[in-house]
Amino acid sequence: MSTVIPVPDNWEEMLGGWESLRQGYPAGDQDETARDCARRLDETASAAGAVSGSGPQSDLVLFWTLGLLHVAPYVAFGNPGPGVEDEAVAVLRRAASRDEGQSCEHAWHPYDVEVDEVLKYLPEDLLLSSPVEEVLDGLLPEDLLSTYYLDALEDEEAEPANLSGPEILARWQCPRTAPGFARAALDYLGATVH
Ligand SMILES: [Zn+2]
Repeated sequence: MSTVIPVPDNWEEMLGGWESLRQGYPAGDQDETARDCARRLDETASAAGAVSGSGPQSDLVLFWTLGLLHVAPYVAFGNPGPGVEDEAVAVLRRAASRDEGQSCEHAWHPYDVEVDEVLKYLPEDLLLSSPVEEVLDGLLPEDLLSTYYLDALEDEEAEPANLSGPEILARWQCPRTAPGFARAALDYLGATVH
């Protein structure tokens, strides 16, 4: 089954581990959770090559990037063990630079939402578990973005206020979205892209 945002088979287990770490109720080895996520992002991103690359490997880049975004507050403020932060920053820098020189027709992407809000209201059930062929019918903007965020938008004529549900989904699926979330994770860590 292919989902709107490709995920590994054990995505619920992975997401559960990241969530509990983010919320300060860690189970298991926190540093290993963060390191594992960084390694997997690095593997999928380097296997995928440039951002324009496609296929199952590059498809998982967004999933692992969202994972590192989840664990970034722990890495930044949770007193991780030696090397964890350096490893995360190095991987994120590589992931963040994958869209250099790339463009798309979108004026807005989901990473333009404040990071905490993205994680708090991540529509994970829809994004991560919906089969791609079933989701488009009747998809609403609020299925994909928090209504708090949508209601606060000032410019009704501009993205994302003027977008339909399927158009917002297309921005989640844009190849530039994962690098943007990697930059957001770097912001947590106080690190710049270069
Ligand atoms: Zn785009």
